[in-house]
Amino acid sequence: MVRTGKRGVRKEDLRFFYKLRTRFVILGAVVVVTLTAAILFILTDDYRAIIDRTAKTSVERLSQSIFQTLFASMSAGGSSGDVLTTLDLAKQERYVESLELYVLPVALIDSRRKFNISDFPEEVKKAINEKTEQDIIIAGEERKIRHLKPFKAQENCLVCHTGAKEGDILGVMDLTFSLAEYDDMSLLSIKRIALIIFLLTLAASAFFLRFSTKLIFAPIKELEGATARLAKNAGDPDVRLGEWGRNEFGVIADHFNRFIEAVYEINRRLEQEEAKMKRFLEDREAEIERRTAQVHDLNRELNHYLDVVDENVINSRTDTQGIITYVSAAFCRISGFSKSELLGQPHNIVRHPDTPRELYVDMWDTIKRGLTWSGELKNRKKDGGYYWVQTTISPIFSETSVIKGFIAIRHDISLQKELADTLQKLNEATRQSHTDALTGIMNRLRINELLQMEIDRSERYGEDLSVALLDIDHFKTVNDTFGHLVGDQTLKTLAQILMARTRKTDLAARWGGEEFLIVLINTSQEWAARKMEQLRLAIETHDYGDAPKVTVSIGVSSYQSGDTIESLIGRADVALYLAKAGGRNRVEIGSGEENGQIETDLSEETALND
Ligand code: GH3
Ligand code: MG
Ligand code: MG
Repeated sequence: MVRTGKRGVRKEDLRFFYKLRTRFVILGAVVVVTLTAAILFILTDDYRAIIDRTAKTSVERLSQSIFQTLFASMSAGGSSGDVLTTLDLAKQERYVESLELYVLPVALIDSRRKFNISDFPEEVKKAINEKTEQDIIIAGEERKIRHLKPFKAQENCLVCHTGAKEGDILGVMDLTFSLAEYDDMSLLSIKRIALIIFLLTLAASAFFLRFSTKLIFAPIKELEGATARLAKNAGDPDVRLGEWGRNEFGVIADHFNRFIEAVYEINRRLEQEEAKMKRFLEDREAEIERRTAQVHDLNRELNHYLDVVDENVINSRTDTQGIITYVSAAFCRISGFSKSELLGQPHNIVRHPDTPRELYVDMWDTIKRGLTWSGELKNRKKDGGYYWVQTTISPIFSETSVIKGFIAIRHDISLQKELADTLQKLNEATRQSHTDALTGIMNRLRINELLQMEIDRSERYGEDLSVALLDIDHFKTVNDTFGHLVGDQTLKTLAQILMARTRKTDLAARWGGEEFLIVLINTSQEWAARKMEQLRLAIETHDYGDAPKVTVSIGVSSYQSGDTIESLIGRADVALYLAKAGGRNRVEIGSGEENGQIETDLSEETALND
């Protein structure tokens, strides 16, 4: 098959089988004609050989018969007239065309008749010379056989033919036999044979054409038509081949039909798949559209968030060398620098001199190890001011896990810092307001507050509560003798002894001058008096080193229902007075009945002083 580009198969190629058949038929015809010709030629040849042989035999027999008749006639004394009669009879024989008798001079009996041998035909002369019979086939339009028979003189002949010797040639009979009839018969036979061959060939050809058309060409044409339809439309559902019987074409048709069925089945499935795929793609498209819209929404939202973050989060990024690659608007706002002033600058542009160097060392050490650093930083503003930020710095990793920069997020804690500072100051102020500046222990103000709470508690729960007022004996003398500084030192020492000797739950404060107040929680009056006695003794026996020894007088009182600070301490004060009056360096209990005695003592003292 010849392919010719786009057009595929040439139209004339479709006639291939027809051409093949025509050529086959032509070849067959040539072969048949050649064979027929050969057969006819051979037959013709054979017929002629048979005819020639048969004719020779016939002509020889006829000539022998004529010769014998003549011989018998002459032996019986016949005349030349008898000879002529015999010859005339012989001439009438079928197939005899001519009959001549050539008589040689030695045979002459009658001198009147003369023959001149030189006038004889050459063939006759030859027969005379050779003394043998001659058969000459004469070809031509009409074939003939010429028989030349020389007559030899025999003993009987010499009776009349006196001039001859035995064995001399007396004459020659020249007999020409026509082969036309034999040839005509053979020709007729050959024509019949040729006709039979022709008719047989014709019948065979017709048969061949008929059956080749039915068995080969029709299926091929149908197959060609079917494939042509498929070539135009591969999905043509009506293409089928018919029943072609139980032969190879039938098998081809069966296979073809099954193949087409299979192809249609595949086609049907493909169509179903295509429809499914189409639906799937449509769904996907819708889904993608929906998602795209979602992504756009998210993007908008994200951009909004990013703007918000940029606006509100103090955010920056640096490369691995700490060079700023990004700063948020919030960063610019808090630092007072513009973006262009910050980008490309080392991050320490905002470093405040107050921040210790070690903090930065720790920070770089942490983030360079790939860890996150968090801490509070005091940063410098462009105008020289500062701000505090809680800072978190994390490394940014590349896809290959290499640190490619750092991101820092901060929030402004300046206000908290200020508040904490203020609070600290406030606490300090409060602490100071509650503390005695010289001795460092609680002052009167504070112990008054606490005592009030303890009084409330005792009032509510009925618990014991005692107070003791302590005064250094003759402290004026200490001052006067050793100076104020020594006096101060003595006050401090006393405060330390108080703190050391009282329980944690008890309270001790400087009440004023060289007086101290001790609040003994959950302690009865007797128990308090005993504790204070121990304290008095401890102060008395304390090793003051180079400093002057001191003693104290202590007045104890306990809470009684309805007491106020004033009434409670007032009773202790009375007891203290009694202790002073009683000779100092002692403990007295103030039960509330001592007032009369005080008045007495006071008048005595006033009298003494006076
Ligand atoms: P008495 O035994 O009666 O208590 O005698 P006194 O000398 O201790 O009593 P007075 O009340 O006369 O003297 C108290 C002295 O305490 C007067 C004052 O100089 C001294 N004084 C008060 N406060 C301080 C102080 O803070 N430091 C020093 N060094 N002396 C103080
Ligand atoms: Mg005093
Ligand atoms: Mg005193």
